[in-house]
Amino acid sequence: MKTLILIIFVLFLVTFLSACGHRTVDVSFQPYVADFNADAVRLGHSKKADSLSIVFGKMDVAETCGQCHDGMITINKDCWDVQTDTERKITLYHEFGHCVLGKSHVETEDIMYPTRMNAVVFEGNADHYLERFFE
Ligand SMILES: [Zn+2]
Repeated sequence: MKTLILIIFVLFLVTFLSACGHRTVDVSFQPYVADFNADAVRLGHSKKADSLSIVFGKMDVAETCGQCHDGMITINKDCWDVQTDTERKITLYHEFGHCVLGKSHVETEDIMYPTRMNAVVFEGNADHYLERFFE
């Protein structure tokens, strides 16, 4: 009986400690986190995307590519797999906009447009969109 109680206690402790302060970033997303942090510093913003978990998973609304809840970004893998590098960056930056910068959606072509902005438009004027994003 004592052994069983000890085992239960140890299992509880392991579960508790691993859930506390644990952060998961899928390797697919790491370059974009580094880009975001570098862009933030370059554009004079103090916030970083270092405390978020970013994982592939199911969306609340099936057709969306990404979502952010309680410090956790979830990315739709079906969507991610067919995106270009720039589209992936816009998708993640949009979620960083919600999760890290506390931004809401806007009604004009922008990183924070509710549906992913056009990647060619973004590339044509990236500095402008990034400055607006980090202002
Ligand atoms: Zn959004």
